[in-house]
Amino acid sequence: MLQFPLPHEKILPSDIKIVRPSSKPNNPEVLDRIKGSLVGLAVGDALGASVEFRPRQYLLEHPVHDMKSGGTWGLDAGQWTDDTSMALCLASSLISRNDFDPYDQMVRYKWWHKHGYLSSTGQCFDIGNATRASIEEFYRRQNELKRKYKIHTDLEVDQLSPELLKKEKFDVYCSRQGVAGNGALMRLAPVPLFFYQVPPLAVELSGRSGRLTHGDDVAIDACRYYGALIVAAVRGESKEKLLDEYFYDDHQVWFGTYPLHETIVNIARGSFKKRRGYDDGIRGKGHIVWTLEAALWAFWSTESFDAGALAAVNLGDDTDTTAAIYGQLAGAFYGYQNISPKWRSILYARDLITCIAEWTEYLSYSENKIAGHERIARSRISSVDRSQQQGRINLVQPNESGSANNNKSKPPAKPDNHSKPKSKRGKSEQRPKAHRKFHLLCVGALPIDD
Ligand SMILES: [Mg+2]
Repeated sequence: MLQFPLPHEKILPSDIKIVRPSSKPNNPEVLDRIKGSLVGLAVGDALGASVEFRPRQYLLEHPVHDMKSGGTWGLDAGQWTDDTSMALCLASSLISRNDFDPYDQMVRYKWWHKHGYLSSTGQCFDIGNATRASIEEFYRRQNELKRKYKIHTDLEVDQLSPELLKKEKFDVYCSRQGVAGNGALMRLAPVPLFFYQVPPLAVELSGRSGRLTHGDDVAIDACRYYGALIVAAVRGESKEKLLDEYFYDDHQVWFGTYPLHETIVNIARGSFKKRRGYDDGIRGKGHIVWTLEAALWAFWSTESFDAGALAAVNLGDDTDTTAAIYGQLAGAFYGYQNISPKWRSILYARDLITCIAEWTEYLSYSENKIAGHERIARSRISSVDRSQQQGRINLVQPNESGSANNNKSKPPAKPDNHSKPKSKRGKSEQRPKAHRKFHLLCVGALPIDD
C-alpha cells in the first residue's frame, strides 16, 4: 500500500516512496481517465500558477502558452498550489482510510495549513479565506476536545476514534451558509473518482466534501453537479451527453430526492455556452458559480485538453483554480494520454499523482462502497425543508470581486442573464422543476462516521 507520511516528518510529495498496486488495473480505460482527472487538475493548477490573480487585460497582453516559472508565487514550472495540495490531502485520506472520513480529511487540511503537508514547496503559501476560516474553526473545536480529555498533542487529537467523536457529537462541518467560494470545487475530483462505481454515493459525498469548508447550498450543489459530471466522464459518457442541457434530468437518479439548487440547475441547463467567452460574461473569479461556469465554458468551447486548459487560464483572475477545476473534468474525459506529454513531464510529483490514481482505481472496486451507499441512504432525512432545519436560507450572489454577497432579501441569482432553454421533450415527458422545493442535504445532521 502507498504510505503517506505524517506531517512532522516533513517529507515533500516528490520524496514520498512510490508503491503501486501489485495487480493490473481492473479497467485500463477507467484508469487512464482517473489519471487524466488528477493529473489534469494539477496541470491546470500549474499552468495558472504563474499568472494567478492577473486580470484579463494582462492575459490578453501576455497570454499563457506553456508552463512557466516565476510569476505570482515564484514557483518552478510545473509546481502547483493549494488546489492540488488539498486534492492530494483528500486523496490521501480516501486511500489511507479506504472510506470517506470527513474528520480525517479536515485533519489533513489542517496539516497542510500548519505544516505544509503535501505542498509542492513544503509550505502553505496560498490559501483562500473561507478555507482558512474553516480550518481554524476546526482547530478551535479540536482544542475543546483536547481540554476536555486532557490530550496534550495534536497527533493524539487528530487520531481520535470515530466512536469518541460520535459520542461527543463532534461537528466536522466548519462553515456556514453564505460561504460559496470556489475552494470547495478546486479539490473535488478524488471523491467522485473514488466512488464512481456507485454514482448516487459519489454525488452525495461530493457535496459533503465541499461542505466541510464551504457551507452554502450553492457550493454544496456545485460539488454534487460537478461530481456527477466527473463520474459520467469516467464511466465513458460522450462530451455531447456531458454538456447536454438535460444531463441533470437524464441522471436524476444519481441526485436522489435532493434536487440541485436552481442556480446550479441553470448552469447544468447550459448557461456556460457563451460563444464569445469573456466578452459574453464568462469570468474566472472566485465565486463558485463563476468558476464552475468558466471551467465548463473552457471544456465546451475547445476540442482538446490542452486548448481548454489554456482557455481557462487566459480568462485571467483566479487562473490556477479555474484551470484546476476544468482539468478535473476535461482530464477525466480526454484521458491521461491526451494531456500534453511536455506538461506531464514537467509536472511536479507526477509519479505520486499517477500512483494515487492507480490506488484510487484499485480501491474503487472495494465492497465498502456499496456498504457505504446503504449506510448513507439509511441516514438521510427525507422531505425536510432546508429552511425548517437551518433557519432562513441566506442565498448569495457573486459580486464583481468574486466574493459572496450576503444580501438576504434577494432571491438566488446568477452573475449573468441566463435564459432557460425550451424543452426538447414533449409536455408529458417533462420532469417537474428540480428546484421546486429545497430539501435538507442533511450533511450537518449526520453522525460523524457518515
Ligand atoms: Mg491555487
